[in-house]
Amino acid sequence: MAQNLYSERQIAMIRESGKIVAQCLEACRKLAVPGSSTRKMDQAVGEIIAKYGAKSPFLGYAFPGKKPFPANVCASVNSCVVHGVPDDTLLIDGDLVSIDVGVTLNGYIGDSAWTFPVGEPDPAAKRLLAAGEESLWAGIEAAKPRGKINDIARAVQSLVEGRGYSVVREFVGHGVGQSLHEEPQVPNYVDPEASVLSLNKPLKPGMVIAIEPMVNEGLAAVKSDEGVWPVLTKDGSRSVHFEHTVAILNDRIEILTLP
Ligand code: MG
Ligand code: MG
Repeated sequence: MAQNLYSERQIAMIRESGKIVAQCLEACRKLAVPGSSTRKMDQAVGEIIAKYGAKSPFLGYAFPGKKPFPANVCASVNSCVVHGVPDDTLLIDGDLVSIDVGVTLNGYIGDSAWTFPVGEPDPAAKRLLAAGEESLWAGIEAAKPRGKINDIARAVQSLVEGRGYSVVREFVGHGVGQSLHEEPQVPNYVDPEASVLSLNKPLKPGMVIAIEPMVNEGLAAVKSDEGVWPVLTKDGSRSVHFEHTVAILNDRIEILTLP
């Protein structure tokens, strides 16, 4: 994986893709109602992407050991953490639906995810959703030009664990722009075993990163069967996922996947 530093002009292109991503997520939010399905969300996103002459970088994505990803969005319901495949299962009151959307326009990619409650979430789900969303904002707040990647990781982890939840280790944020996954990795936890070098990786102006905490209601461990996409919590507890693509500029950061 290469690490790219992007010019202002290139960041503007990622922002254009990011705006379409935000529109796609808004459409999914409206479809997060009882009786709807993740297939409907995927179709709605496909239509928006086509309208702009863009592409989904998820559709056909090849990951070692898996068939190419078959949809425009990842749709991960309840105990599914990430990489869920949209289907016709009817959504019911209380489901938590995590939708991950990428859009490629003119060769530049925006990447964002959000978890939507179906109907009225129970109090425990509300707390979990709040922790997930707030951990994303804490991570974004901690991202500073010439700061460290670990500042993000520490901010996310301390918020999540402070609320009694767990952050997923196996999947992390990443550089994004010309490819869906670029260097550097942006973990949501601080690894005490990691080398000092990786702990000290700086956030350089021109970097574009996806910050994406995955927060489990129970333990952090996840599982996935060979050949199939969905990643589930090992203990069956619910999981939420919030993500924005963020550019590191000279004097500030900018979220590129806002409406
Ligand atoms: Mg994503
Ligand atoms: Mg991502």
